[in-house]
Amino acid sequence: MRKLAAGNWKMNGTAAALDEARTLIAAHPAPTCDMLLCPPATLIAQLSALAKGTSLQVGGQDCHAAASGAHTGDIAAAMLADAGATHVILGHSERRADHGESDADVHAKALAARAAGLIAIICIGETEAQRDAGTTLDVIAAQMASVPVDMTAQNLVIAYEPVWAIGTGRTPTLDQIAEVHAFLRTRLTGRIGTTAAGVRLLYGGSVKPSNAADIFAIPHVDGALVGGASLKAADFGAIVAALSAA
Ligand code: PEP
Repeated sequence: MRKLAAGNWKMNGTAAALDEARTLIAAHPAPTCDMLLCPPATLIAQLSALAKGTSLQVGGQDCHAAASGAHTGDIAAAMLADAGATHVILGHSERRADHGESDADVHAKALAARAAGLIAIICIGETEAQRDAGTTLDVIAAQMASVPVDMTAQNLVIAYEPVWAIGTGRTPTLDQIAEVHAFLRTRLTGRIGTTAAGVRLLYGGSVKPSNAADIFAIPHVDGALVGGASLKAADFGAIVAALSAA
């Protein structure tokens, strides 16, 4: 399986930020893992143009479940593909919290992404209260409902992102990550069948150059979804290098 280092720029970056992507590509022309950046929608076409023919892939941060229509401010999956995206992040905890997205919404968006030929990166993860209550695995099991049952390793990536670890500098212990990823592989197999063995399971939540190698050594961790550290080419490049070496 080819691993995946995915960067989520969130609502950060104007055209000037594309210089970071240029630097990243120049420093990592042929990584042995996939390298993906998901910039704001305004930069997808420009980033895709500069990434064409390089080691960098480009993704969106969300899409609408419908193919087109009266949805002001939203973006259809086919529009992302048309702008050059190959992936789309779905169900990020910030979308779930800020926009009230449910597992059913994420499920519908994943079907739309697949129909447009995009790889869906579906995010799941527990809140701190759920972790403290000892219900993490129950939450993960329930969030499997966001994964359409006929997705495959070709069109699906799962990102395990504990909500309390996103943007906080805090991470679960390596054992906690290992427990969830092993559980995730089993549950995903139950949901989509044997193709689950080839689905990349990313860890996300305060991944940085200093902890990447330890996290990538955990079984069933097939890459990372990186927020803050993806904004700087040097930091994201170091994470790409750690994944390539894992
Ligand atoms: C994220 O946005 O998915 C994320 C994991 O952010 P950070 O790396 O900043 O914690």
